Amino acid sequence: MTRASAAPRAVVAGGGILGTWHAVELVAAGFRVDHLEADVDPAGASVRNFGLVWVSGRRSGAELEVALRARRRWEEAGALVPDLGFRPTGSLTVARTERERRVMEDFARQPEAAARGIGFVGTDDVRTCNPAIGGATHGALFCNEDAVVEPRRALGALRAHLSESAPERYRFHPRTRVVGLGARSLVDATATRWEGDLAVVATGAAYDHLPGTGGIGTRLRRVRLQMLETEPLARTLTTSIADADSLRYYPAYESARLADLGEQTPVAAAHHLQLLLVQRPDGGLTIGDTHQYGEPFDFALSDAPSAELLARAEAILGVALPPVRERWEGVYAQCLDGGVCLREEIEQGVFVVTGPGGRGMTCAPAIAADTLVAAGVAA
Ligand SMILES: Cc1cc2nc3c(=O)[nH]c(=O)nc-3n(C[C@H](O)[C@H](O)[C@H](O)COP(=O)(O)OP(=O)(O)OC[C@H]3O[C@@H](n4cnc5c(N)ncnc54)[C@H](O)[C@@H]3O)c2cc1C
Repeated sequence: MTRASAAPRAVVAGGGILGTWHAVELVAAGFRVDHLEADVDPAGASVRNFGLVWVSGRRSGAELEVALRARRRWEEAGALVPDLGFRPTGSLTVARTERERRVMEDFARQPEAAARGIGFVGTDDVRTCNPAIGGATHGALFCNEDAVVEPRRALGALRAHLSESAPERYRFHPRTRVVGLGARSLVDATATRWEGDLAVVATGAAYDHLPGTGGIGTRLRRVRLQMLETEPLARTLTTSIADADSLRYYPAYESARLADLGEQTPVAAAHHLQLLLVQRPDGGLTIGDTHQYGEPFDFALSDAPSAELLARAEAILGVALPPVRERWEGVYAQCLDGGVCLREEIEQGVFVVTGPGGRGMTCAPAIAADTLVAAGVAA
């Protein structure tokens, strides 16, 4: 599909947050962008997540730099596109035992904590930070860099912004499944070839579905998570919330005395569980999560981890939670080398970008900007 135009052209496959931020950055760099999405509406990891812009957990070095840069970009975009629901809420990672408090207090004294805007707050200050926390706590790590966006609205809001601000240079094409690629081009299931000066393939967990992508599959894995959401809670949470098990999963805490946390509960250990909790604008609580690393994945949702997550959330908030209104699963792609993502030019002018793992919503703006640099179209 070639069109005469003075502007450089790009084609992006994948309507998730990575593909969408690539479209945003390419349009900002002056490209005409055709944005291809296999589904009627994207329904992958990007709409199933918490919407956490989670700087606190990022590994020191390149990953933290990317996350901080991305967080600034989210904030700028949030000012321009209110429907993204960007909220600089900060987060509280709550200690529920003295052991957890000691580990957190010790971590808060390390330079890693300051680099992420993390400090330890005592029990009374936990309630000052978030008066909705009515349960017994032993203090918390407060991170003022963490933020939230609305995952079910963000993709549509960014697309609407592109369509309004650059109507001649942005086209979204739902129901357009890419099945092949060539130099600077992608081919869809109707055999239409989409040509550009640059092509980006951001198909998320479907990273090995295209011809020629089998090789990158050895450097990635899929991870399945379970989530739920309650009906609105009649209290406003002024921060997002995590529990001490989250320290085990985020690389920022590699230097913490994690062994002193003791064993996880059997259910938590079996499901690689941590509590993360975000309040949606209507008051509902998004609560998760679990991690399953080995395929084939269960097709069923498990009750035991959901019950444990709800019990933990009730203990921290000190109230009975409203009924659960939805449960769902999600799968993300994670690169295995510990990098921020996998970015590879698999064909001349065709970049596969995937594998950000549990940090894709956080880091997408900066990952996209870095692809333009890797492709030589931005400095
Ligand atoms: C339950 C859960 C909670 C999470 N929570 C957070 C969080 O709070 N914060 C955070 O930073 N990260 C979080 N993550 C991770 C984050 O959601 C992902 O890293 C991120 O959404 C990945 O975005 P993506 O665009 O690569 O993939 P996706 O969102 O999966 O998008 C890929 C898109 O490509 C389309 N596609 C696939 N094949 C083709 C094809 N052949 N042609 C055209 N289109 C195709 C798909 O339909 C899909 O729309 C979470 C993930 C999950 C699953």
